[in-house]
Amino acid sequence: MSKGDLLSIIPCHRRPERSLKIKGRPLVLCARCTAIYGSYILLPFLYFVPLVHNLFLALFLQLPMLIDGFTQKWKWRESNNTLRVITGLLSGIGQCMMIWYAADLLKELLS
Ligand SMILES: [Zn+2]
Repeated sequence: MSKGDLLSIIPCHRRPERSLKIKGRPLVLCARCTAIYGSYILLPFLYFVPLVHNLFLALFLQLPMLIDGFTQKWKWRESNNTLRVITGLLSGIGQCMMIWYAADLLKELLS
């Protein structure tokens, strides 16, 4: 399985005009997805941040991405890659927080 095949299973619209570019070539994933999946690298380190175990904050961190994504989808405005990266990073961190919240809950249920 090549790197391209592996990345093809990741859901993303893959529009080159919405992707970050390296030396003029667009990355395989869009700017938002690159930031979301890239933020998953933070998952093990986030465990030690006290606020990380807050589900409300984790859900709140999804709002910027939802607002940016849907207002663009509804053609109210056009986003840009800087906003896509920032909102994707916040969303990815929030998703990591949800994983830790679920892990804490599971640990509590099993103990
Ligand atoms: Zn994407």
